[in-house]
Amino acid sequence: MELDELYQTIILDHSRRPRNFGELPAPALRGAGYNPSCGDEVVVFVARSPEGKIEQAKFVGQACAICMASTSLMTTRLKGKTAAEALSLKRVFVDFLTKDAPPPPDELGNLQALAGVKKFPQRLKCATLGWHALQSALSGQER
Ligand code: ZN
Repeated sequence: MELDELYQTIILDHSRRPRNFGELPAPALRGAGYNPSCGDEVVVFVARSPEGKIEQAKFVGQACAICMASTSLMTTRLKGKTAAEALSLKRVFVDFLTKDAPPPPDELGNLQALAGVKKFPQRLKCATLGWHALQSALSGQER
């Protein structure tokens, strides 16, 4: 299977069957994101342990395939991470989509399926919206 084809399959799979789709009740943290240029809307929920590690991350929303897939993939990668580690992964991911330098592939894992966005900068907001909502949730200011 071609790499592009594999990436396409991952994106379709996660956009049609998003993982960790649903809400978490308070006191889970909550962060919302809206991308007016595409109409994507997501709300990310994060439950943390007393030690500050992410125990569960979920999301709800209505968004395009790229946004759904990126947010779904994101939620599968957060368990056990501190807020700092989660935000570090966000930076690596955004750098991967916006810079030419090759990232450490191990850290990104199947998030590399979003590589196609590099060719469509206008879709960058779609791919990063869930991550901005995550950052907003972790800042603890929305709830
Ligand atoms: Zn979108």
